[in-house]
Amino acid sequence: MTYIRILHQARVLGADSDGTISQSTELFLSTRLKIPSLPLDFKSGRTSVLGSTALGAVFVRFLLGKPEVQDSDALRTAIDQALALGRTSTLRGHEMGVDEVLYGRTGLLWALLQIDKADGEGQTRWEDDESLSTKKSILDISRVGIPKLCGVITQAGRDGATDFVKQHGSEDAMPLMWSWIDTFYSLGLMHGITGVLSVLLSNNLTRFHPKLLDEHGKEIAGTITGLCNIAMKSNGHLPMAVPRWPSEKARESSLVQICHGAPGLLILLAIAGLNEPFARRFYEPLWVEALHVASRKVWEQGILSKGGGLCHGIAGNAWALLMLHDTFEHALIPMECIGACREGVKKDLVKCGRLSGDWFLEMALAMLLECRNTRPFGDSEKYRLPDNPYSLFEGLAGTVCAWAEAALAIKAKLRKMEFEEKGIMSPSSTKAKEDLEILEARLGFPGIAVSIV
Ligand SMILES: [Zn+2]
Repeated sequence: MTYIRILHQARVLGADSDGTISQSTELFLSTRLKIPSLPLDFKSGRTSVLGSTALGAVFVRFLLGKPEVQDSDALRTAIDQALALGRTSTLRGHEMGVDEVLYGRTGLLWALLQIDKADGEGQTRWEDDESLSTKKSILDISRVGIPKLCGVITQAGRDGATDFVKQHGSEDAMPLMWSWIDTFYSLGLMHGITGVLSVLLSNNLTRFHPKLLDEHGKEIAGTITGLCNIAMKSNGHLPMAVPRWPSEKARESSLVQICHGAPGLLILLAIAGLNEPFARRFYEPLWVEALHVASRKVWEQGILSKGGGLCHGIAGNAWALLMLHDTFEHALIPMECIGACREGVKKDLVKCGRLSGDWFLEMALAMLLECRNTRPFGDSEKYRLPDNPYSLFEGLAGTVCAWAEAALAIKAKLRKMEFEEKGIMSPSSTKAKEDLEILEARLGFPGIAVSIV
């Protein structure tokens, strides 16, 4: 998946004039890739493309423009299985939630949205008639599946919230809550509520589910407020779960990583800001205060000895700050939200009388530069070699994805500064088209974000 992303982004970046990146990437994809066709296995309700090798292969083959005929049936089966699941599923004696991003239905919903986007923006190139016909079938199945999956996930969130109150009372209860393990409800991005909500707030989901904000906007917003209250009570940290996960109570310091911790809340608050209709209706001053406090924790404690990866590494934490830069750069959060914040918050977020993403960009870039010292790219002994040193979520592949996203953000920023210096208020249609192409090439955090505009 990393190679497919980089191939697409290198073209838009214009940083590959001699064709080195494209040629080596094309060569890798054409000669070295052996994607297995394994039988689907949804034991324990794990229907995410990220947690299933067989389903992941279907997804990657589509992005490559080389789907196999049986892939459309595999995808249909996955969606049917996901829709038929209850709120939890039994695995090794535990009642496991079935909705998280990494293993659950939200990871499948993200993949369907990504499939639709990849086709619409020409990331995928189709090689023959047979793959073209399978492509049409996969797109149809995806487009029908998206609103249905959205419906079962939100209903599971409501039922989860009801059960939480029965199990634990109303303190820390939120309108939408998804189980993690038994009676614990995880809050993190890959495993918990912040991840599910981030995908539900994807910009392009609204197209499939036009009434999403009318039907669910209020409960999504109420849940975000609940998460922000929990983070503010925890001095900017986001606990692993409510109630507190036993091992976390014994921990000296809170986890600051994407899978569990404050960076997940930052990505959710960034995506909530990038969803313009949602931001205009629901964004609250408390959310701005929470993202400010939590981003300080990520800056102060987010250089992890675990390495430079996405899930529990420096690049994932930096990406959360990069997404906040996007949100403020596009100025989609209502000014009255900022106006109601403390002076210290306003000072960081408002430059020359307007919202600015620079404060977040500076922190994100510093952290991404530090990733150069992590293993296996660098050799600093401060950092542990991840268990899977080249993988997307733990290793160098994810770090490279983060660097490419940051490079696109910098390119967009430099163009904007150039226009400002030249006093160009509205660039020509050609320049505006190039700007849009750069924004659209931002492929978002794997498993979570589909589009930043
Ligand atoms: Zn992790």
